[in-house]
Amino acid sequence: MEVGGVDSDGREFTNATEMWKEHIGEEGDSHKIIDWYRNGVSYWQEVDASVDGVLGGYGDVNDADIKGSEAFLNPLLADFLLDRGKNRHLVALDCGSGIGRVTKNLLVRYFNEVDLLEPVPHFLEAARESLVCEGVHAVDDHRATNFYCVPLQEFTPEPGRYDVIWIQWCIGHLTDDDFVSFFKKAKAGLKPGGFFVLKENIARNGKGHLGFVLDKEDCSITRSDLYYKELFQRCGLHLYQAKDQKGFPKELFPVKMYALTTGVSNRSPSRYKLRANRPGVIK
Ligand code: SAH
Repeated sequence: MEVGGVDSDGREFTNATEMWKEHIGEEGDSHKIIDWYRNGVSYWQEVDASVDGVLGGYGDVNDADIKGSEAFLNPLLADFLLDRGKNRHLVALDCGSGIGRVTKNLLVRYFNEVDLLEPVPHFLEAARESLVCEGVHAVDDHRATNFYCVPLQEFTPEPGRYDVIWIQWCIGHLTDDDFVSFFKKAKAGLKPGGFFVLKENIARNGKGHLGFVLDKEDCSITRSDLYYKELFQRCGLHLYQAKDQKGFPKELFPVKMYALTTGVSNRSPSRYKLRANRPGVIK
């Protein structure tokens, strides 16, 4: 991967391989990888189970975030799932759900069932309390169903369960190899016509090829658009659509939303033909 980057101490790396070599070892040293993931989870274990907590002190961006996500999701649902008919039963998975902010404000309004996956127990408990105990799920038979307390890199979904797998602000905790194996496994969790939404901070590509920013404190990496596209290709994913999030404070990383499909085969041929001008297959 020929992109350069920096870490949170301002140290420069000429490419991602060099950075990973230092942090997880040459061939992926299992002790170093265990430490990497342990530090990531430990960081979040100290954070308040609140909207402000999961948004790094920027609780104010919640509204703009949800509006942006909804505007992205709506046409996608129309594109992919309308032909399911009126009595369709839609199921989503909220990955790295934290306290269930995205599920509560967005997903549970669109999906009959939402499963949550989150490795930090006090976040998942807060999610369960607000989604189940407070009865949010009772509305129109929409509910949060399963609460999985596992990290993304250890999760294997039930085959064919999900219409949408939503991954927001957590994929940066995964190494490149685990990123790829997660998506490869998760593809099997999608229904035919199902898709992924990935919403993440994006590192700027400045003059010095800043293709990533490594945060040593929470053991996460912010990747550039180019970096993501290379990984999507390794996963065998098709980039159906990408959109920039608007309205966040200037000092924050730009945020992008990606809609990813497993390829043409998961849509019916007629639908594909209709939209042949739309999907942007990664070259
Ligand atoms: N997606 C939520 C939470 C964002 S905060 C939201 O938008 O509100 C980042 C979340 O990633 C935290 O809940 C943290 O516990 C979780 N996380 C950290 N390491 C992870 C891993 N390896 N797999 C899945 N989630 C992880």
